[in-house]
Amino acid sequence: MAAALRIGVIGGSIAGCAVAVAGSRAGADVTVYERSDAELQDRGFGIVIPPPLHAELVGSGYLDAAMPTAPVGTRIWLTREPGGRSARELARQSSPVTPCNWGHLWRSLRASAGAVRYLRGQPVVSVGRGGSGGAVITSARGDEPYDVVVGADGHASATRRLLAPGSRPEPAPYLVWRGAIPLGAPAGRPRELELLREAWVTLGFPGGHGVFYLIPGGPQDGDGSGGESNRLLAYAVYGRPPEGAEPGPYVHELAKEHFPAAWADIVARGGRRAAACHPVADVQTPRVARPPLLLAGDAAGVTRPHTATGAVKALQDALCLERVLREEPGRSAALERYADERTAAGAHLVELGRRMGRALVEETPDWPTMGQVEVDTWFRGVLAGTRHYLYAETREAAEPGRLERPPPGAAVPR
Ligand SMILES: Cc1cc2nc3c(=O)[nH]c(=O)nc-3n(C[C@H](O)[C@H](O)[C@H](O)COP(=O)(O)OP(=O)(O)OC[C@H]3O[C@@H](n4cnc5c(N)ncnc54)[C@H](O)[C@@H]3O)c2cc1C
Repeated sequence: MAAALRIGVIGGSIAGCAVAVAGSRAGADVTVYERSDAELQDRGFGIVIPPPLHAELVGSGYLDAAMPTAPVGTRIWLTREPGGRSARELARQSSPVTPCNWGHLWRSLRASAGAVRYLRGQPVVSVGRGGSGGAVITSARGDEPYDVVVGADGHASATRRLLAPGSRPEPAPYLVWRGAIPLGAPAGRPRELELLREAWVTLGFPGGHGVFYLIPGGPQDGDGSGGESNRLLAYAVYGRPPEGAEPGPYVHELAKEHFPAAWADIVARGGRRAAACHPVADVQTPRVARPPLLLAGDAAGVTRPHTATGAVKALQDALCLERVLREEPGRSAALERYADERTAAGAHLVELGRRMGRALVEETPDWPTMGQVEVDTWFRGVLAGTRHYLYAETREAAEPGRLERPPPGAAVPR
């Protein structure tokens, strides 16, 4: 009987754990090196994934069916009433999504990867060439040989630099503020919470937009169950602070100036967990595997977050890895096929993320002049024939009766 393929994984976050599950399901002997000594938690606040991917991951044993999610089926586009402080609803689209809490997602993948060696507090110092076309991982444990080394070491991946020394993240000319707040914080805003129980909301303003959605509370919140009674309100706001403004707190000014009062209030009440401020950048490795090295998740490529696909891509990378390891006769053939499939998928998302960023932040439309038809037509142009799970419905023509929607420009009481 042939010896099991030895896979060393650098990074034990979403991509690292998903790849570990993939490798062990395909019969490999997997070791994960994670730099951080602590239990990973609360890294990414809310993570939205497509419902069919969630179902596939549950069906194939990557995720526990009991992992809490907060699915909704509709997307609502809002803007501020010109000259007022109330919200105006522009459009509704069918947009089924499965919001998760980063902490539960990671824990579920970690549990599914139970049988693999997961080494916490073990930074990889270097990766070198090994015998028989393999590689050697060097850490405080010494040199350990592997047949395949997976770089799942995130957006600043050192493994990416080995495969593509010239690849550099390209900054976008704007920032994102991200937060997740307990539902008690906006308790005085029952209408907005009611809306969010059935839909996720995009709020357009001149020079950017915000997205708002409910996610299950994390393992540290309330009873830790993430159930119906334990939700967080997650948001991400994209915009550009003016020259000289301190970036972090600027989101509050921005919300005060441009958001309907109720939504500005939600951002203002954020409290301790809101809001992390991040630069936005993207990068794609020209080819995401060259035996014996392979990249997964953000290490392989980072797309602007408008596509909501960084973790999605990491999970799809893992599913692809399992499939090619099972189907291809040898390590090299498997990695080359992975590279063919996943490089193309990543490049497509980077390009789509840029188009979305231009439309939703850099060159925003005159939101108050838009209604259902205008939003649909505009975004169909942005997608330019591409299918994307957040835009399940940018219809050729409105389909009356499919969704109950207000006439263009109808005001939503605040
Ligand atoms: C505002 C925003 C919203 C987002 N929303 C979504 C969304 O809705 N849906 C979605 O799919 N994605 C979303 N994403 C993207 C998603 O959060 C990331 O793409 C994903 O979490 C990346 O996971 P990863 O495992 O590749 O990287 P990371 O989580 O960065 O993990 C890398 C790991 O590698 C470890 N590491 C690094 N170097 C070493 C070393 N030398 N040795 C050992 N370990 C090492 C690190 O400690 C870390 O644990 C969003 C991102 C942002 C910024």
